[in-house]
Amino acid sequence: MPFCTHQENKEDCLLETYPIVYLAALRNATKAAHSNNIIVRNAILKKRSNKVHGTYAAALRLLWPATNKQIEKRKREIEQGYKKEWSQLITQRQGVENFAQEPLSNAWLSRNNLLRSSRLINAIKLRTNTYPTRTTMKKAHDDIVPICRTCGNTDETLDHILGQCITTKAKHIKRHNEIVDLLKDRLAATNRILVKPTVEYNGKRFKPDLVITNEERIIVLDVTVQYENKNFLVEAAKEKIDKYSNKANKLKRNLNVPEARVVP
Ligand SMILES: [Zn+2]
Repeated sequence: MPFCTHQENKEDCLLETYPIVYLAALRNATKAAHSNNIIVRNAILKKRSNKVHGTYAAALRLLWPATNKQIEKRKREIEQGYKKEWSQLITQRQGVENFAQEPLSNAWLSRNNLLRSSRLINAIKLRTNTYPTRTTMKKAHDDIVPICRTCGNTDETLDHILGQCITTKAKHIKRHNEIVDLLKDRLAATNRILVKPTVEYNGKRFKPDLVITNEERIIVLDVTVQYENKNFLVEAAKEKIDKYSNKANKLKRNLNVPEARVVP
């Protein structure tokens, strides 16, 4: 469900609540029409109820009476429509294509006790690029200078705040290290783990986050915390694989294991 920022131009506002309300009413009516309770059934089959529901159905372009299956189908079509409209917005669309279909990277949205509500709201703003960065605000107010308010070095975009700004770098590193620690703890039960080992290759030294070995394979694992937009994740993953493939193969030969893998 897209998040409405209540722009002045109503056409830009995606939060149309009526389809949700109408769909729920139609679902309840269909359920009631099949109820074992004759009073419930009669109430719903009365002319007036039917007329109201007929109007709702017409607004949703749904034939009435409809089966539950037809209502669900229409609901999915409406949701798809939202997603499409959302992905075409100028500012809010950033990253939509990457995360719209990803239950894993959206898990924080459904785990409702994970973040305090104020943090959750900010997280949603960051995710939908509706956080009032100076670059975003400049689109509405021409007199705003878009330079980063904390480092003053470059334009204050979401990508800058989350990935490049020197003032958020410590948090960025902390997040990276927390992920490495979590992976290390989970993997240590069944594997041998080397943390930040020095790997020499062609006279140069490299330090991947983790090298994980067991009898079957060696895995070179290097974590990256990356803003999710366009091809950023794919490119970051490719970069890691390019960087560590040769080194992983060398370790494979040294340790005499059948398989080597780089996991970005
Ligand atoms: Zn900055």
